[in-house]
Amino acid sequence: MAEESRANGRFERALVVGAHPDDPEFGFGGTVAKLTAEGTEVIYVVCTDGCQGGEDPAVPDAELSAVRYAEQRAAAEVLGVREVVFLGFRDGSLAPTLELRRAITREIRRWRPDLVLTHAPLRSLDGAIGAFHPDHLAAGEATLSAVYPDARNPRAFRELLAEGLQPHRVREVWMPGFDHADHVVELSPELVERKIEAIRCHRSQFDKPEMEPGAPAVWVRERMRKAGEKAGVEYAEAFKRIETA
Ligand SMILES: [Zn+2]
Repeated sequence: MAEESRANGRFERALVVGAHPDDPEFGFGGTVAKLTAEGTEVIYVVCTDGCQGGEDPAVPDAELSAVRYAEQRAAAEVLGVREVVFLGFRDGSLAPTLELRRAITREIRRWRPDLVLTHAPLRSLDGAIGAFHPDHLAAGEATLSAVYPDARNPRAFRELLAEGLQPHRVREVWMPGFDHADHVVELSPELVERKIEAIRCHRSQFDKPEMEPGAPAVWVRERMRKAGEKAGVEYAEAFKRIETA
């Protein structure tokens, strides 16, 4: 049977760190819906401005970013997320730099989450290549480095102390499991539909010639069904869970 989602007791607050607008929903949407329904406060941190997520090179970057930020806010609202923080790094250029680590550390210290959900920092060569966008790997690596050691170490990024941001220890990190999954969050059909409704808010991402209408709902549901099947439940999202306290 599936393991309970509260792997280490109840979570007061969860921070979801995604590379692009739409990653929080594709990667964690069902789990976010479940957490907020259980009373966990969820905050999104979106690292990039989403300006590469389109097919028309004539559209100005700022225009596309504005559309994607609005879509991200709407999707977050569907899932009951309290706040969306946009770090504004350039889409397609993300690297696990000290600058990115500092920006994520700032948000960890500001929101003080027990649980962090983010991308895996490693490629799985068996997974769909789209899951391993280089920005995802960079966001995953920078987030793990922010969780340990930066957010908890008072000597790291000392300028954050001057902003009133004290060190903070995150208790757990969950990343999409791929070939390392060891934690399954069971999702009811209602939570699955909520995730799909949130994904549908990212309209600009489905306005592509090769995309059949309704296609994202089909493959997103199928992915949750496959993750559930492995765990003996109908639908699930599967993660690699690490304890980081
Ligand atoms: Zn992405």
